[in-house]
Amino acid sequence: MARRPRIVIAGAGYAGLAGYLALRAQVRARRLDVTLVNGDNWHLLLPELPLYLTGAEPEGELRLDLRRAVQPPARLVIAHVEAIEPGGAAVRCAGSAGRIGGDGLLLALGSVSSDFGVPGVAEHAVPVGAWGDAQHLRDRLLQELHSRTHSAVAVVGAGFTGVEIATALAERARAARATLEVVLVGQEVLPSLPPAVRAAATAALRRLEVRLASGRAAAVEAGLVRLEDGSAVRAETIVWAAGVRANPLLRACGLPVNHRGQVEVDEHLRAAQAVYCAGDCAAVRDAETGRTVAATAQLALQEGPGAALNLARELRGEAPRPVRPREHGFLVSLGRADAAGTLSGAAVHGGDIAALKRLIERYHAFQVGGLRGLARGLLRGVQDAAPARV
Ligand SMILES: Cc1cc2nc3c(=O)[nH]c(=O)nc-3n(C[C@H](O)[C@H](O)[C@H](O)COP(=O)(O)OP(=O)(O)OC[C@H]3O[C@@H](n4cnc5c(N)ncnc54)[C@H](O)[C@@H]3O)c2cc1C
Repeated sequence: MARRPRIVIAGAGYAGLAGYLALRAQVRARRLDVTLVNGDNWHLLLPELPLYLTGAEPEGELRLDLRRAVQPPARLVIAHVEAIEPGGAAVRCAGSAGRIGGDGLLLALGSVSSDFGVPGVAEHAVPVGAWGDAQHLRDRLLQELHSRTHSAVAVVGAGFTGVEIATALAERARAARATLEVVLVGQEVLPSLPPAVRAAATAALRRLEVRLASGRAAAVEAGLVRLEDGSAVRAETIVWAAGVRANPLLRACGLPVNHRGQVEVDEHLRAAQAVYCAGDCAAVRDAETGRTVAATAQLALQEGPGAALNLARELRGEAPRPVRPREHGFLVSLGRADAAGTLSGAAVHGGDIAALKRLIERYHAFQVGGLRGLARGLLRGVQDAAPARV
């Protein structure tokens, strides 16, 4: 009998875990061996991070236990990938996990915060994204919320992450009657979204008394963000939410990458022979515009399965299929009970949209965590209904 093809998936975020779930039936039918490698034993619900950072979300709620989602005969290895072998033949992990290789590799190692060359970010600002940074940032922000003296938090980056953090924080500050000033630093609010959505977000920021410091950050110093026009924003805590770049391990492994360090892939999400890439770390091109698609969970959830199924097809000698991830819209929360964004091209805004965004997040939790994942979401729904406390 022919040996079962062995696939290694590096990263169990939105792309990697969805890729595994797409292969699960083949794994259970013993047609494939899959090993999923992830640095932590949880799947982090990144879109819910802004609520967590501002204390609106309890700690355990943001992480789903990977051991529930990935069960034998699939193999789950909790290990930090230190390097990808040249050309993507295998990954090398820290500790006893060592070298993990197979017949094919799906790289889904996500992205990291980028300072875009702005000096002082690493020393004086707290990035958004990694779990360790999130805990540190949450402690800092809760401290600021409890502070009896006037203090300020500057959120640098007015894209969706910055806007969600600034509005969630300002809402909490108002509920707690804290003397906290929230300043959002950026050239433009939600630059990639249509004018009606930008207007709704700007109105929400104004309503929540978030100060807008319009301009590009030129440098960060202790307690200070300097803008390119020479002005400065003083703040006790500086949150860096200006953007991301692909996980640096990808650039180091010799596969072709773009200026953001994302691996260049073809329409099948193939980077090299039996090496596929999906999610934030892949430069996936829109078939119509030729532009690289956005780094979002929504697209990662489509790219992961597309890449994983194509890898399995390649290993069986079958033809791969084009992967055409589609953005159905994008929703940005503006505090807990308000959101704005686009749905099928139309600008939408309001409390219903906030509920819809939460529903989408719960659906993902259900897909990944089953009923327990759903219960987690429902439980939060009950907590959400309670008055905000700090
Ligand atoms: C605050 C915030 C809010 C967001 N809100 C939204 C939103 O509302 N809607 C939306 O569509 N998108 C949103 N995004 C973007 C979205 O989260 C990402 O696009 C998505 O997570 C990308 O999926 P991914 O699988 O490529 O990477 P990730 O989900 O980041 O997964 C990468 C995985 O690789 C693992 N990993 C990384 N390095 C190593 C290593 N060296 N060794 C082992 N494992 C490793 C990580 O632990 C992780 O499990 C948000 C992002 C942030 C930060």
